[in-house]
Amino acid sequence: MTIRVRIAPSPTGNLHIGTARTAVFNWLFARRHQGQFILRIEDTDLERSRPEYTQNILEGLTWLGLNWDEGPIFQSKRLDLYRQATQTLLDKGLAYRCYTSEAELEEMREAQKLRGEAPRYDNRHRNLTSEQQTAFEAEGRSAVIRFKIDDERELSWHDLVRDTVTWQASDLGGDMVIARAAERDSVGQPLYNLAVVVDDIEMNITHVIRGEDHIANTAKQILLYEAFGAAVPEFAHTPLILNQEGRKLSKRDGVTSISDFRQMGYVPEALVNYMTLLGWSPPEAEKERFTLAEAATEFGFERVNKAGAKFDWAKLDWLNSQYLHEMPIPQLTDLLIPYWQSAGYEFEPLQDRAWLEQLSSLIGPSLVRLTDAVAMSKLFFNPIEFDAEATAQLQQTAVVAALEGVLANLDAQPLTAERVQEMIKQVLKAQNLKKGLLMRSLRAALMGEMNGPDLVQSWLLLNQQGLDRPRLEQGLAVSSKDS
Ligand code: GLU
Repeated sequence: MTIRVRIAPSPTGNLHIGTARTAVFNWLFARRHQGQFILRIEDTDLERSRPEYTQNILEGLTWLGLNWDEGPIFQSKRLDLYRQATQTLLDKGLAYRCYTSEAELEEMREAQKLRGEAPRYDNRHRNLTSEQQTAFEAEGRSAVIRFKIDDERELSWHDLVRDTVTWQASDLGGDMVIARAAERDSVGQPLYNLAVVVDDIEMNITHVIRGEDHIANTAKQILLYEAFGAAVPEFAHTPLILNQEGRKLSKRDGVTSISDFRQMGYVPEALVNYMTLLGWSPPEAEKERFTLAEAATEFGFERVNKAGAKFDWAKLDWLNSQYLHEMPIPQLTDLLIPYWQSAGYEFEPLQDRAWLEQLSSLIGPSLVRLTDAVAMSKLFFNPIEFDAEATAQLQQTAVVAALEGVLANLDAQPLTAERVQEMIKQVLKAQNLKKGLLMRSLRAALMGEMNGPDLVQSWLLLNQQGLDRPRLEQGLAVSSKDS
């Protein structure tokens, strides 16, 4: 049997981290078993679905490296299939037209609330006579289609994550709506549970892997499989992703979509690695860094937790920094260029390529996220600003002499590390200065701040762009102003 799994996002928002993590588990399971991973876009909710969200979802999955074998299959193109399936259930007597109005439903719920009962549909139109139906239609009422749920049933399945899950049919809220309201004799827009089951049967899905928030849907869907006389697939309900307070991560927590993480400067290799660890632990617990392909050789539901997975920003940052620190410099440079460009720094991507790569290798080891590069590289682009600490340093006594000494020694030709060391020695000797003072003054003048990357390396980079002499002169101006 070929394993076939699917990810079935609804394009009612950008690709959410929870959906993406479910996609990761589906992908890993498919790859582990040489199976197929199918992408289905559940866009039957016409009011809330948007093509730009579909675009965002496809881009996000692609960016993460979660390639799919079939699809995207759009539910909106398959409405006839769902209508036929609904008709089949009507013909078999397993579904019926329900004419209960919104106001009647509301009244029913109010009464249930007063009695301290859970809200449910009381199945009042399950056995209407054709005269009653005709009368409702004559009133101009439209009908939803409801699927009969036998309250006496107990539903039980073996879940690959949660072992045996049992659900009482009486807790499913009464006969369920499978298609929205429509005029006489027609079937309206299909609803989630129906469309999912029709598709999962038609697409030969063998394993339904999705978030545990769908458990109650699974109970309903099992009834639909039975009604269609189809084999019930295996189910794996994966733990939810929780915020710091232990509640389901939601829009209120700020960043939740994959495109947000991308914008924040996370790289896909780190993000998928982190998402894999949200609920799964590799057999060698200490080996926390791996590619998707590596994880696929070991992935199984026996190592997926039942408990929710707390989102840990520090760990994601740590993983991201590891990937950035080990990334080949040309690749890192390609990733950083757009950040420098959007910060408004002036450079020529092609002409300055060698210099940009040197800059990447200088700041690379300090990056946690790609966005950090903006602040870290600022001093390598014009114009410079001397911060308060650097200004104070420049205004110390003897700094004028130190900077003048350096300027007098600065050659016209490009600097090397050896030449810099030699020059420092010369100036120290000629001006009789303390080394600390000279080095701090150089840092203040060249970089405008007292902390930052290696001084000599930074100087060499500035020298290549012809920025060191003007900076030393500017620094000197700051120094001589008040001394
Ligand atoms: N469209 C559903 C969702 O986005 C799919 C759930 C399922 O996998 O069946 O949650």
